Amino acid sequence: MQKGRTALVTGSTSGIGLGIARLFAHQGANIVLNGFGDAAEIEALQGGLAREHGVELCYDGADLAQPAQIEAMMTRALARFGTIDILVNNAGIQHVAPVDEFPPDKWNPILAINLTAAFHTMRLALPAMRKKGWGRVINVASAHALVASPYKAAYVAAKHGIAGLTKSAALEVAEQGITVNAVCPGYVRTPLVQKQIPDTAKARGLSEDQVVRDVLLSAQPTRNFVQVSEVAAFAAFLASDDAASITGTVLPIDGGWTAR
Ligand code: NAD
Repeated sequence: MQKGRTALVTGSTSGIGLGIARLFAHQGANIVLNGFGDAAEIEALQGGLAREHGVELCYDGADLAQPAQIEAMMTRALARFGTIDILVNNAGIQHVAPVDEFPPDKWNPILAINLTAAFHTMRLALPAMRKKGWGRVINVASAHALVASPYKAAYVAAKHGIAGLTKSAALEVAEQGITVNAVCPGYVRTPLVQKQIPDTAKARGLSEDQVVRDVLLSAQPTRNFVQVSEVAAFAAFLASDDAASITGTVLPIDGGWTAR
């Protein structure tokens, strides 16, 4: 379905990004992986996906908090594949603390990785998409792009920001065969969520089990975590030719969270 196309998925060494990269490889796209992790595990992942799906894969370890590294990653990817047809801005980090105790040195990286990195990848990917007359940008935002929760000021600000970036860019490229959308998952049990459970427990004076039951899953009327495979399938649909008329949207996949 995506044979001959190239997908660059930021933060694809783990969690949602890895699920999305796997599905695009399964659909025949060449893949640029990005993110941190153990070098041997990343090499094994890269080799495994290439063998399993017969696609070209490369890994770029660019730190998305560093614009110069993003620029170098995009230059390498464009030199190798010509176009990045499908750009998935997925990398993200979180920190949980009350706003008046929020460490200032956490604010900038959260904004840089969750928001500003997507501006840089988009500005560098769009010219080749425009030349080709086809492109898909999928920003992995969050239910926190639509509603807030306490103790997540930087994350909520970044995710609301990416909703605006998505809409504005979509309008600019709407006549050029390029769509730009944001997907907004509710809670998905990835390392990002796992790591915030102890801090949330501390901030709210709860046990970790109470955080899962009374904070995370209580936000979601389905009372279930959203699955990585569901977010990946959603992204794959947005990247398909059938989704040509879906653009500028900020779409929840959140078990009913933002319906309240
Ligand atoms: P994760 O921690 O499993 O994966 C995050 C990925 O980002 C990893 O590959 C990591 O190496 C990479 N990354 C982090 N900092 C980076 C940097 N400076 N440069 C390059 N890569 C970097 O988390 P996840 O839950 O899969 O999150 C993926 C995205 O989904 C994030 O944008 C997150 O905000 C969003 N999201 C997650 C949930 C959830 O419940 N897990 C819900 C809504 C939205």
